[in-house]
Amino acid sequence: MNTQDNIIIQNYSNGSYKNPQSNAWIDNYEPASGKVYGKIANSNAQDIQEATAFAKAAFTTWSTTTIDERSRILLKIADGIENRLQELAEAESRDNGKPVSLAKNVDIPRAASNFRFFGHAITQFASESHESVGLQAINFTLRKPIGVVGCISPWNLPLYLFTWKIAPAIAAGNCVIAKPSEVTPMTAFLLGEICTEAGLPPGVLNIMHGLGTTTGQAILEHPEIKAISFTGGTKTGEHIARTCAPKFKKLSLELGGKNPNIIFTDCDYDLMLNTTIRSSFANQGQICLCGSRIFVERPLYEKFKKDFITRVKGLTVAHPASAKAKLGALVSKSHLEKVQSYIAQAPEEGGIILCGGNQVIVEGYENGYYLEPTVIEVQSNSCKLNQEEIFGPVVTIMPFDTEEDVLSYANDVTYGLSATLWTKDIDRTMRMSNTLQAGIVWVNTWMMRDLRTPFGGVKASGVGREGGFEALRFCTEPKNVCIKYT
Ligand code: NAD
Repeated sequence: MNTQDNIIIQNYSNGSYKNPQSNAWIDNYEPASGKVYGKIANSNAQDIQEATAFAKAAFTTWSTTTIDERSRILLKIADGIENRLQELAEAESRDNGKPVSLAKNVDIPRAASNFRFFGHAITQFASESHESVGLQAINFTLRKPIGVVGCISPWNLPLYLFTWKIAPAIAAGNCVIAKPSEVTPMTAFLLGEICTEAGLPPGVLNIMHGLGTTTGQAILEHPEIKAISFTGGTKTGEHIARTCAPKFKKLSLELGGKNPNIIFTDCDYDLMLNTTIRSSFANQGQICLCGSRIFVERPLYEKFKKDFITRVKGLTVAHPASAKAKLGALVSKSHLEKVQSYIAQAPEEGGIILCGGNQVIVEGYENGYYLEPTVIEVQSNSCKLNQEEIFGPVVTIMPFDTEEDVLSYANDVTYGLSATLWTKDIDRTMRMSNTLQAGIVWVNTWMMRDLRTPFGGVKASGVGREGGFEALRFCTEPKNVCIKYT
C-alpha cells in the first residue's frame, strides 16, 4: 500500500510531468484519517494556455493517425491500468475514502474497460450516407474530430469517470485537456505514466490539476478548447453552461440526481433487498445513480422497513483498507458536514431517523470522515430530504398506494437521472418505463451497465448523452458532403 506522506501531484503535459508555472499548490487530504498527505498543482490560465498549445500541435498528427493505431494505443492503456490494478485501487481508496475492495472490483476495472471499449468502438464507428434518388446526388457525412476537448470530472468515481470522458475523445482523434477533481487527483496523476508507457504521443492527453474556479475556469474560457465534457454538480453545470454558451462551445453535461427506487409487492424480495442495500450505500452513497428515495407499496412497507433497517445496521463502517469495510470514509470534511446538516434538519420536516445518523469514530483514525448509513422515514415527497441531492449514505423511505401516486412522486423532482423499478409485471414495467422522467430506468437490477447504451439524464440531471456511439458523436463534428453527378 502506498503510505508515502508527501505525494506531489504534478501536471502531465506534452507527455511529461511538470510543476505549475506559478508554483501554487493545494493540500491533498486522506479522508480515512483527515490528514494532509500531499500537494496538488493548482494550475492557472498560463498552464492551460501552454497545455492547449501542446494539444493543438499534437492534433495535426493524432487526428490523421489511423484508426488501427489509435485503437492499439487505447487497448495498451487498458492493459497498463489492469497491470497496476492493486496500486491504483489502493491509491483511489486513499484519495477518496472508498473501500479498497470497491476500487479494486469496480472503479479500476471500469477505467480499463473504458479504454478497451472505446478502443474497439472506434473501429466500428461509421457515418451515414443518403442517396438523393431521382436527383442524381449522393450525400455522405464526414465525422471529423473537433480539435482540443476539455474533460472535467468529479471526485466520487475518480478514475472511472475521468477515463469515461478521455477515452472516446482521444479515440475519435481529438486531443484533450483533462482536469480531475482537486479532491481526488491521485489516480489521474498515475494515468499519465500509463499513457506514456502505452505509447500515446505527447500532447494528445494533458492532465491538468487544480481548483475548479482556477484551472476549471481557465479550461472553460480558453478559446481553442472547442468542447467541454463535464460531470459534476448541477450548480457547476449551470455555471459551465452560462460561461460556454456565448463562446458556442459544444457541451455535454452529466449532473446530479435524486433517483427513485420503486418497490412493488410482486418483486423478487430477496434480490430487491440485497440490491437496495447496494443502491443506497455503495461508495458511501456517493454515486449519482444511487436510489436515494425509496418508495414501497403499502402492503410491503412494514416488512421492508424492518428487514431493511436490520440489514443496514449490519453494515460495517471501517477504515477503507480494512477487509471488513462495507462503507469507508466520506470524501471530505466539508462534504461530511453537508450530509450531516441534512440529517440534522430531518425532524423539522417530519422525518424520523430510523437508523444511523451519527458520525463514526474509527479507532486510530479519529479525525476521519466516517458516517453511519442512515435511513429516514419521510411524510411527503416534497420535503427537502426528498428534493435535494444529499450525495451521502442517507436514504429516505415512504409508502405509496397506487402506480399513479408513485409515478407522481418519482417525477416530482427537478432531477431526472435514473430510476429503479422492482416488479414482475411486464405491463406495469412498460407503462412506467415510458413515463418515468429519467435517462436510465433499471428494472429488477441497479447500475448494470452496458457501455454501448446511452448514458445521461434529463431535467437538472444534464444535457446530452455519453456512452457508445453517442460519446463518439459528441466528440466529432458531422459534415455533410453532397456530390451531384450526371
Ligand atoms: P463539482 O461540480 O463540485 O465538481 C466537478 C468538477 O468540476 C471538479 O473537477 C471541479 O473542480 C470542477 N469545477 C468546479 N467549479 C468549476 C468551474 N467554475 N469551472 C470549471 N470547472 C469547475 O462536483 P463534485 O462535488 O466533484 O461531484 C459531485 C456531483 O457530481 C454530484 O452532484 C453528482 O451527482 C455529480 N455526478 C454526476 C454524474 C453523472 O453521470 N450524471 C456522475 C458522478 C457525479
